Amino acid sequence: MQFDIRSYFKNGKTPYTAQFSEDFSKEDFDGSRVTDPVVCSFEATPDTDGVAMQLHVQAAADAECARCLAPVRETYDFTVDYFVRERDLQDPDFELPMDEKGCLDLRELAYQELIFKIPKVLLCSPDCQGLCPICGKRKAAGCTCRPADDAAPADARLSILKQLLS
Ligand SMILES: [Zn+2]
Ligand SMILES: [Zn+2]
Repeated sequence: MQFDIRSYFKNGKTPYTAQFSEDFSKEDFDGSRVTDPVVCSFEATPDTDGVAMQLHVQAAADAECARCLAPVRETYDFTVDYFVRERDLQDPDFELPMDEKGCLDLRELAYQELIFKIPKVLLCSPDCQGLCPICGKRKAAGCTCRPADDAAPADARLSILKQLLS
């Protein structure tokens, strides 16, 4: 999906809206996968000194818990606002993805916003205990292993107690 922002600056008198969905199933999201189509809507509105734009993105991303490897699905539903002045199009540091003809690449924009939102490290729950180092099962699944006597106790208070007793 493209938006010709250069000609919109010249001819855009009324708000422009577009609904589209993009397939990001082959894109890399730093370990997460976005297999379902990403539903987007875009709106541009002419203003006295520029163009106000709004991009709305709805997506679901699948990943694995960084501690226990359980599947984690996160959904995202967010809106990003932009304001572009005509002189920004000439700016070599203009941060929105635009080609030499002055068309914004809305697919690329949605991708950039989404990858920014998806955390690099996901957990199935904030207090996930991870995998047992002895049996390899998820601790949350009810592993009853106890560390061997020579292993350092996980709790520092137990460690002090052990020192006092010996
Ligand atoms: Zn976990
Ligand atoms: Zn265990």
